[in-house]
Order: sequence, then C-alpha cells, then structure tokens
Amino acid sequence: MSDILETPSDRLLAAVRGLLVAKGVMTTDEIAERIRITDGGSPAQGAKMVAKAWTNPEYKALMLRDGTAAAEMLAIPMRGLPPLGVLEDTAEVHNLVVCTLCSCYPRAVLGYPPFWFKSAAYRARAVRDPRGLIGEWGTVLPEGVKLRVVDSTADYRWMVLPRRPEGTEGWSEEQLAAIVREGDMIGVTIPSIA
Ligand code: FE
Repeated sequence: MSDILETPSDRLLAAVRGLLVAKGVMTTDEIAERIRITDGGSPAQGAKMVAKAWTNPEYKALMLRDGTAAAEMLAIPMRGLPPLGVLEDTAEVHNLVVCTLCSCYPRAVLGYPPFWFKSAAYRARAVRDPRGLIGEWGTVLPEGVKLRVVDSTADYRWMVLPRRPEGTEGWSEEQLAAIVREGDMIGVTIPSIA
C-alpha cells in the first residue's frame, strides 16, 4: 500500500494483525475468514429469519428461545459471536434496540450498523425520548402499545421480530423477506406493504 493512502488506523490495523499472527493467536487464513464472515452479514439475513418465523411457528419458537441456533439453521455463521436474542413485537409491546454504550449490533444477521445507530443522539434519545425518536422515522405506535427499549451489549446482541403486516396472507417466505427492512429489526420502523 502506498504511504500516501495509509492512515494511522491503517498502520494500527496492520500492526495488530501482524502481532496476532506472530504470537500464534490467529493465522492469516483465520483473519481472512473472519473478515469474509463479517462482510457477509446483511439485513437480508435477518429478513430471512423474520419471514421464516412469520410462516413457521416452530421456527418462531426456536428463534425466540435461541436466536443463535435459529440463525445457524439458515446457514448464517454465528461461531465466535455473542449470543443473539430476539424480541417479539406484539399487539401490546413494541421493542426498540439500542447500544447505549457504543454500537453493539447483531452484525451476522443485520450487517454493519447504520451510522445513526452509532450516533450519540440516537443512543441518548432512545433512552430519554424513544417515542419521539421513532417518530423521526414516521413511526407512530397505536394508543396503549408499550415501548420497550432494550440495550444491546458486548455480551448479548438483540434484534426485533416485528409483527407481520396485514394483507400478506398467503405470501411466500421470499416475498415476505423482501419487505423486511433493517430498521424494522431494530424497532425504529414497522414493516409495511404500502
Ligand atoms: Fe456497543
């Protein structure tokens, strides 16, 4: 790499990688594999899980009990990652996920966190004014629905299982997965077919 393009963080990264290999902590192949797995995470993975849960009660039960096992069942690599928890939205409760401390995010099933998830404004407002916050996305909860804010941490990562929208009866898993967006699985938005 040219020196002109090299930033201090590039040099730090190269030094840490070099040390991991030199000390025998990881091989270059293992580092490459981990990068490949991390880059392979995307909201499409989580959307597949949601669509399956909407159409298959047994899968939904597994997903709510053990999110990691449910992800692995769909061939999403979870090895070496913190456990995945899944929060079910109901007619009474809507869930919103935040990492108040930094940016902990279920990357295997949602990919890299969006910029706003990492922002100080999101992290603070999710706690102080969650209804106002999701209102920024145009999300208004019906009267009487409780809003539960859940903290994602380094030890436990959360995603939301949103409610299946009305008007999707008889849809295939592929059709359903196509309407599930990143924000629906964090709780800032609600799936819709409009
Ligand atoms: Fe974090």
